Amino acid sequence: MDLPQYFSDTECVDEEMNTNLKTKIRRKRKWNMVTVFKTKYECDEAIKQENLWSFHYVNNTIEGRKVYYRCNKVKLRGNQCDAGLYLFYDAASDDIIMFKCDAEHTHNSVELHNSRISLHVQQEIRKLLDFKLKPKGIMEALYDNKFEVPSMVQLRNFLTKIKKEKYGSETITLGKLEQWCFESCQTTLDIDTPFVVSYEVMYPDEFNDEEDFDGHAGSIFRIFISTRRLLTTSSTSTKIHADATYKLVWQGFPILIVGTTDADRHFHPFGLAICTNEEKQDFKFLFQSLVNGVEKICQKKSCLKY
Ligand SMILES: [Zn+2]
Repeated sequence: MDLPQYFSDTECVDEEMNTNLKTKIRRKRKWNMVTVFKTKYECDEAIKQENLWSFHYVNNTIEGRKVYYRCNKVKLRGNQCDAGLYLFYDAASDDIIMFKCDAEHTHNSVELHNSRISLHVQQEIRKLLDFKLKPKGIMEALYDNKFEVPSMVQLRNFLTKIKKEKYGSETITLGKLEQWCFESCQTTLDIDTPFVVSYEVMYPDEFNDEEDFDGHAGSIFRIFISTRRLLTTSSTSTKIHADATYKLVWQGFPILIVGTTDADRHFHPFGLAICTNEEKQDFKFLFQSLVNGVEKICQKKSCLKY
């Protein structure tokens, strides 16, 4: 292994993904040639020995391939340590040349910064949330207002924390959901109290046939919720609409809304369903539930033919 004369290539500008804003930023770094390797093995060993570098990204140039490494004392997602290294696979020879960035390691301060969102930024995020901004919108607003922008992962974690504070834990097991459906099936005398009109829960080992399966990998559930008043309205309707809304999502599942429009084009909902999917089987369940619900509540045949 021969050590070439120390030289620096000051004009080298590398582009890298700024993981915070998902935009490409140009950061000027000064690279110094450190070592020339004759084999990839030697080169890999040298990198391994330092126990400091992880593969980051590749930049193919006419002169050769540049493989960048990042300091692995900080997480991949989030701001990176200033120190860096790249291997230049010279297209003109078999040499692999190692370049190192002349910047000092900054991972200690970066990690401190990455690990939590500072309090004043947290306050700002809470304010922005009140404006119903989505995560991306929050990031942009923070950036525009010259706040320190957290990484997307940090922001999502923080938003989850806020949601938990507000609404309690957000995940529910299928077993608990089934139990809830069972307990919420009772019809009440009050015409505006919602209840579960019908529900289906199927665990993967319970799929009867191909139709049930319908391309599902996991468990299936379908729940239809309505009230006496809504079901009564539906009993006189002859037209219904059903559609999935993605504006309203529960635990990642779309809400299917079923209802009718009157002569004035006003929409009257009959109820809502939450299903693991929005396939033929789910709509079938929805319409059948509606028919059953009407018959149960009104003690008469629904006008709806299904
Ligand atoms: Zn570092």
